[in-house]
Amino acid sequence: MDKKIVQPISRPVQGACGVTGTWRSQRPILDTSLCNGCLICWLYCPEAAISREDRDIDFTYCKGCGICAVECGKKAIRMVKEEIK
Ligand code: SF4
Ligand code: SF4
Repeated sequence: MDKKIVQPISRPVQGACGVTGTWRSQRPILDTSLCNGCLICWLYCPEAAISREDRDIDFTYCKGCGICAVECGKKAIRMVKEEIK
């Protein structure tokens, strides 16, 4: 029997509270030299703002919660204060 593997795919989208990137007071900065590609940050990001392919962060939807920085075992992500424009 041909069994298909079905898994959920999350994409960041605008919800009822608007674009979540506008909430951000802190911004995650990824140091690629420390990253081992484990994808824990991708798994935990509540906004699905981290790319599975290259860990690029979509700042339109990253709300600056810092979960990725807390969960990264390699300490490859640090949170910095967002610049006020
Ligand atoms: S959790 Fe940390 S080490 Fe793992 S992929 Fe994300 S940034 Fe890289
Ligand atoms: S701070 Fe990290 S976990 Fe939080 S929304 Fe942004 S990328 Fe996702």
